Amino acid sequence: MLEKLREEVYKANIALPTHGLVVFTWGNASGFDPDSDLFVIKPSGVAYEELTPSNLVVCDLDGNVVEGDLNPSSDTPTHAVLYKAWGDRIQGVVHTHSSWATSWAQAGKSIPCYGTTQADYFYGDIPCMRSLSQTEIEGAYEAETGNVIVDGFAEKNLNPLSIPGCLIRNHGVFSWGTNSNEAAYHAVVMEECAKMALHTEQINPDVKPAPQFLIDKHYERKHGKNAYYGQK
Ligand SMILES: [Zn+2]
Repeated sequence: MLEKLREEVYKANIALPTHGLVVFTWGNASGFDPDSDLFVIKPSGVAYEELTPSNLVVCDLDGNVVEGDLNPSSDTPTHAVLYKAWGDRIQGVVHTHSSWATSWAQAGKSIPCYGTTQADYFYGDIPCMRSLSQTEIEGAYEAETGNVIVDGFAEKNLNPLSIPGCLIRNHGVFSWGTNSNEAAYHAVVMEECAKMALHTEQINPDVKPAPQFLIDKHYERKHGKNAYYGQK
């Protein structure tokens, strides 16, 4: 079932340790098939070396296993909430505890857009979401993490396509994209931007975000309706 998607999600998962975003099994990638409303996700606690396209797990949007012998990632309900809310636009989700971005998450600070590296992919700051309450953490924790993202984006009036990731306070990173490989790509971009932003503030503690017209220019030339970056 979903053989092509399994191959894609397998590659997205392997991209995480390849790019230094995960150690041990601290991360997962999934990909969504909007026709069947099913998604393919990494099994829980399985080392990346042991991962194959066929041992990935297929789940429905309630997080039930539809195909697979292994338990899905413990973060599966978070992925399901994101696909339920945004599955018409995003078909890939990645979660990591990558060190630089997670440092910002632990500090409870959004990553300001200090330059064009970030502006090429994120139309502004990479937001740090609100803390989960004790009730949310002791209840349906992973699903509530998804709700904090979806509700936070709605409250801030953010478009998940123009801000393809966020920080979960005291926890780590969620990123997404039009497929799982793009979600992994955005996780790498977030990590690099997090590292550069910290260095930027260390070099100049009074630094201000890049001017809006520069952010507009860089985001629009790549993603706007008159985009001209790259090859046709
Ligand atoms: Zn985590």
